Amino acid sequence: MLRRLFLQGKFTIPFIGGWLSRGARAATPPGRDFFAELKVPSFINAAEPFTTLSGAPMPPEVMQAWQYAGPRRVRLDDLHNAVGGRIAALIGCEAAMVTSGAASALTLATAACMTGTDHAKVRRLPDTTGMKTEVIIQKSHRYGYDHAVRNCGIRYVEIETAAELERAVSERTAMMHFFNTNDPVGKIKLAEFAALAKKHGIPALNDLAADVPPIENLARSVQLGYDLIAVSGGKGLRGPQSCGLLYGRRDLIQAARLNGPPNSDAIGRGMKVNKEELLCMMVTLELYYKRDHQAEWREWEKRVNVVRGAVAAIRGVESEMFVPEIHYRVPHVRIRWTRSSIGLSVADAIRRLREGEPSIEVRSNTEDGLELGVWMLEPGEVEIVARRLREVLKNG
Ligand SMILES: *Cc1c(COP(=O)(O)O)cnc(C)c1O
Repeated sequence: MLRRLFLQGKFTIPFIGGWLSRGARAATPPGRDFFAELKVPSFINAAEPFTTLSGAPMPPEVMQAWQYAGPRRVRLDDLHNAVGGRIAALIGCEAAMVTSGAASALTLATAACMTGTDHAKVRRLPDTTGMKTEVIIQKSHRYGYDHAVRNCGIRYVEIETAAELERAVSERTAMMHFFNTNDPVGKIKLAEFAALAKKHGIPALNDLAADVPPIENLARSVQLGYDLIAVSGGKGLRGPQSCGLLYGRRDLIQAARLNGPPNSDAIGRGMKVNKEELLCMMVTLELYYKRDHQAEWREWEKRVNVVRGAVAAIRGVESEMFVPEIHYRVPHVRIRWTRSSIGLSVADAIRRLREGEPSIEVRSNTEDGLELGVWMLEPGEVEIVARRLREVLKNG
């Protein structure tokens, strides 16, 4: 019953008090308020864990791990090995390593496929002499982050069908690259792509960066036969924003490690990961596997309904919950209105929300309406977002 009222947008108020009493986020710390001092404004993230919006807030357990590691000394390779082993066991794969973001995981994965564990080749990159230099990708899977793969001096060979892929394979093929988010638009699907790579004995990489949750995706690519998988640490996983993971086949992770930090004469030397980040990524994964994902989903649905409830009574406004198919697959809200009833464009509404007090960032500016994410909100913030939205839409 409550649920139906929520869905009809008729029920909003009673839950608000409970959330507010849990306290607002990020209470001003004792001592210096750095961002205020620097006049760097904060905002409410009703968007996504976008990189430019500083990703996702880290849970307290992750912050504690950072503080634990800070004053202590370890040999970095020892910690790399130990943390990598723990993370691989959690995911259920042969080996894993912490990287400085999914983008660097893409670079190190490519380098690994080119050099193997040949130290001379590791030192030679980006000079590709004596190495395989082609990466096969579906045309529809080209994207901005493929720059991270091209960093290694490879050339992409674009194909569309399985038959074209078969013809494109040669002794120059270093790797096959799949962009998980674009699975629906490619002719060759996730499982078939891995199977084709297997058939030809070519390592397959899946870029899964922003496609967790669902948690099942982490192991699924391994089970399908992907040799290397890249994930962002600071998006859905909520680890340090500067981190990511590369995991998969043991020999390739070993090769990727050779190409990465702390080794100095390697293409990945600039992709440094410190002891705090290493430990924090382990704790991030541990927490992620312990989390009640269904309860979290229900909480997100509740937030969606608070927002929908706040705008339900405004004439000409319609709202709906939606879940993107792959990228950021969690409950979101979409709000549409007719320009005859409300004199604002979507872009105007976005600007008002951003310039208001407090400032609010939303997911996107689409033809389709105003889209908001609710999963990055802290306790108490959904009510603020709902109130501001109502003000903006009512006052035009
Ligand atoms: C965000 C993203 C990356 C880069 O991840 P970082 O962890 O920020 O380095 C790579 N690929 C895709 C598809 C992404 O969404």
